[in-house]
Amino acid sequence: MKAKQILAEIGIEPKKSLGQNFCVDENLSGCVFDFLKTEVEKNNIEEIWEIGPGLGALSEKIFELKLPTRLFEIDQRLKSHLEKLCSGFSGAELHWGDFLEVDADALSEKTRGNFLICGNLPYSCGTAIIRKAIALKKKPAKMLFLLQREVSKKASAKPATDDYGFLSAAVQLFAEAKSGATFSQGSFYPNPKVLSSLLELTPLKLNSEEIRVREKALNIASVTFSQRRKASLSVLKKNLPISGESWEDKFERLKIPANIRFEAMPLELLIKLAESIECIPEKK
Ligand code: SAM
Repeated sequence: MKAKQILAEIGIEPKKSLGQNFCVDENLSGCVFDFLKTEVEKNNIEEIWEIGPGLGALSEKIFELKLPTRLFEIDQRLKSHLEKLCSGFSGAELHWGDFLEVDADALSEKTRGNFLICGNLPYSCGTAIIRKAIALKKKPAKMLFLLQREVSKKASAKPATDDYGFLSAAVQLFAEAKSGATFSQGSFYPNPKVLSSLLELTPLKLNSEEIRVREKALNIASVTFSQRRKASLSVLKKNLPISGESWEDKFERLKIPANIRFEAMPLELLIKLAESIECIPEKK
């Protein structure tokens, strides 16, 4: 059944504030299914999470994989529709509420073996959802999201490119990111204003010390990337005062060019800077 018909049957209108642009393109749901099927086999996936199942266009395909599936949906108006859809598959478990409020760490600890997260994410909070998923203590083996094309491009951008910025660093400090196929407005109902692209994320296997250093790198980025076009040494001197070894000496010792801008700084250098400081200094 088409999204428009299902909505009419339930008697509701899509909510823009919840990013409700439902998938109506079988090519898109087929593409997501093929990706998930390959990953399930390759990574011995034992559980799948879908964020924002909506009317279930992707969920129906996910159920074909016959794995325990958790579905996180905020819009209670979809309750009877989704409950009916899930009643046909014993592995489905619905979680009602804002995914950003869910104790996802506790749920991830309960997963048996490897798990995978996917979702056609709402534009309004897609970035926040990605960052929450990346920060999970037990890492999913893979994540596949459909997002505004710009966000997908930014998350996967490399330094010294137009799209590279804080989001790129925030994502790639913790995961390998790859932007995938793009889908036009016609793939969704109602039609969104922008194009959407797939984003594939593979969380990096990091030990607790590596995570601590990368969290420091993320803190540095959160302060400095607002001035990404300025020379990094002067941005750090102005915004992050430190005691002990000066920023100048650190740059020299670590062989980091003083005039390199944050938008062009490879993540390895940002990580080296983070390693060189004990804790994050107060922002000036
Ligand atoms: N997966 C469906 C599809 O592809 O047709 C729906 C995708 S729609 C772009 C986004 C879905 O996320 C909507 O069902 C919306 O209600 C839900 N949603 C929005 N914000 C959410 C949040 N914070 N937590 C959980 N679900 C959310």
